[in-house]
Amino acid sequence: MTKVMMSNSSKTGNHVSATMCKYVIWSPANGLGNRMISIASTFLYAVLTERVLLVRFEPDMHGLFCEPFQESTWVLPMDSPFWKNENLETYESVVLARNLTLDDQLSLPSVLFIDLQYRPEDPERFFHCGHNQEALNKVDVLIIQSDQYFVPSLFMIQSFSLDLNKMFPEKDAVFHHVGRYLFHPSNEAWGQITRFYDAYLAKANERIGLQVRVFNPASTPQQAVMNLLLSCAIENKILPEIDTRNPVSNAKNTNHTLKAVLVTSLYPEYAENLRTMYLRGATITGEVIGVYQPSHEQEQKFNDNVHNIKALVDMYLLSLCDVLVTTSVSTFGYVAHGFRGLKPWLLYRLTSDETHSPACVRDLSPEPCYHFAPQHQCNGLKPEQHFGTSFPHIFECKDFNRGVKLV
Ligand code: GDP
Repeated sequence: MTKVMMSNSSKTGNHVSATMCKYVIWSPANGLGNRMISIASTFLYAVLTERVLLVRFEPDMHGLFCEPFQESTWVLPMDSPFWKNENLETYESVVLARNLTLDDQLSLPSVLFIDLQYRPEDPERFFHCGHNQEALNKVDVLIIQSDQYFVPSLFMIQSFSLDLNKMFPEKDAVFHHVGRYLFHPSNEAWGQITRFYDAYLAKANERIGLQVRVFNPASTPQQAVMNLLLSCAIENKILPEIDTRNPVSNAKNTNHTLKAVLVTSLYPEYAENLRTMYLRGATITGEVIGVYQPSHEQEQKFNDNVHNIKALVDMYLLSLCDVLVTTSVSTFGYVAHGFRGLKPWLLYRLTSDETHSPACVRDLSPEPCYHFAPQHQCNGLKPEQHFGTSFPHIFECKDFNRGVKLV
């Protein structure tokens, strides 16, 4: 992918001329789930705008994914002038402030930094507007920093929608196709995935994936999360109840269906509790339940590619399950159900010692939610809460009402 070099780039990285290709460089923010959904979005944007995609992978992203093409790399070379955002003109100052249009191409820089992360002042509110995309089309190198799944905003741009509709007849399967095309686990990650799967999941009649993401562990007691998880699983018949009248065995019941429960969490206690529960008592259905957890890292670690490989292994294993319970608003969970192409049960996001009913709801589609979607008409400044949902196939997310998703 990098065969065509950016030969005329200056030392400051602010001038690129006479290149044969145009580029979009993805720049990271936040955890692996955030990164994967935003890389997928940037890749789709690159396809739609005929740009080469390069990724700024620091050592913490090394060894996770295969290269998209053999004998080439999508990783931005370490000696590239585009590693730093300093001295770069920003989309906000250039395109928005000067309200540029097609006729202004001479005044556009050749490298532009676009921050598509959420910020309360929401400066990128016009990225989804056709006239701004026409201006951006004149810029050789775009550097996009994002932690969001901004694909729904691409569906809001008229010049892209024809291609998008042809590419994705099923609008709820965009991440499913793009993600599975783009992210191939490295041999190291794939080895861990297949060994775990073969050892614990392959022989089960049904595989249940439970992703327990606790966003505020200091203020959220484990018991409250455990109670919520059990209510969700039992009320929706995802897991069977324990037969309290026959605690020793259930000899009469000949149903020996084996259910494998894969728990992913930073903490070991949820899987341990479930395992103990199903060891101590027989189930009322007679089903046999095995509970397995690949890793429990205790905390999110930064600058650590071994930790990130474990996260990828967990997400991928979840995506091999037949039923998924994922935690609301977690991009880690979004990758798992997006890869699988399955509507998950969304566990309510607890942040304190509380309870919630219902404990979980069925999602509308397997697509990730775009948490901070545009709220502005392209010709006006007045924000509209549900602006995004005026487009076909775009609905408000069940787990985050400021967000929208493809359905
Ligand atoms: P989000 O914060 O839930 O949206 O997901 P992210 O993936 O963006 O960030 C959370 C990070 O915490 C992950 O990338 C992992 O580094 C770590 N993490 C959270 N939950 C788990 C888990 O269940 N398993 C593993 N291995 N890591 C986790």
